[in-house]
Amino acid sequence: MKTNTFLALSVLILIWSCKPAVEEIVDLDVQNWIYGSENCNENIDPPIQVVKYNSTTWILRQNKCTNYEAPFMFLFLGKEKALLMDTGATEEADIFPLYTTVKEIIDDWSEKNGKVELVVAHTHKHGDHYAADGQFKGKPNTMVVGLEVEDLKKTFNIANWPEEIVDFDLGDRIMNIIPIPGHQASSIAIYDPITKILLTGDSFYPGRLYVKDWGAFKQSIQRLVEFTTKNEISYILGNHIEMTRTAGVDYPMETMYQPEEHPLPLSIDQLNELAMALTALGDTPTREVHDSFIIYPID
Ligand SMILES: [Zn+2]
Ligand SMILES: [Zn+2]
Repeated sequence: MKTNTFLALSVLILIWSCKPAVEEIVDLDVQNWIYGSENCNENIDPPIQVVKYNSTTWILRQNKCTNYEAPFMFLFLGKEKALLMDTGATEEADIFPLYTTVKEIIDDWSEKNGKVELVVAHTHKHGDHYAADGQFKGKPNTMVVGLEVEDLKKTFNIANWPEEIVDFDLGDRIMNIIPIPGHQASSIAIYDPITKILLTGDSFYPGRLYVKDWGAFKQSIQRLVEFTTKNEISYILGNHIEMTRTAGVDYPMETMYQPEEHPLPLSIDQLNELAMALTALGDTPTREVHDSFIIYPID
């Protein structure tokens, strides 16, 4: 009897240990991110927070104490390619080891699924989104996409910028690339049909939506609204958090400490709220505070 019980237990343990690791689905509405420190000398967080959304989707956040922008970066894995969106706000690998962090994830994936090419692209051409490009340039199996509109048109086969939405196949994972100039000329949004996540860069996130080209921005937000009417959306994710949990209240600019941050995701309702506000404001670039974002025209 004792032996039988022991045997049964052993078999159970064997079966259990052979099972693949359970995917860690994260609820992004309650996910806590590292948010810097009041005194950065006392900050003990890692330089990059790594969150596994599922086995093929990763979200990284740069530590605020390495750069106040604390941007998010996103990694999508397909059968043939991996797509990294953005390389953060710090160039130096010893302070901000983005390449080694991403390589570790990809190597792990490749062990079971075969080699993939890493494509590094950007939500737009601002320094807090491409600072660590140099860590990737010249590395094996790695392509870094250029930062200009012409580079995007060539790489992703966009004939009719900015109206055309194109596919980019990672291998059994066809991402959509949506041109959304306005915050910056080469701004793009990315949609992943597997997780239904829509990345909106600095064009739509819980923070100060800096608008450089008012007319283009309005059209781009309209393009995003139309896209969300035709595609199922799980989360709309931008690249920063600058709003607190108090409606309409943002953190001071360049702060390195943001306790009680607004959640990263925004909703389709909030996207519609932005589109309607822009329409109501007409042709005059106007600053306007909303609960979860601030329309913020700049020269
Ligand atoms: Zn930007
Ligand atoms: Zn930014």
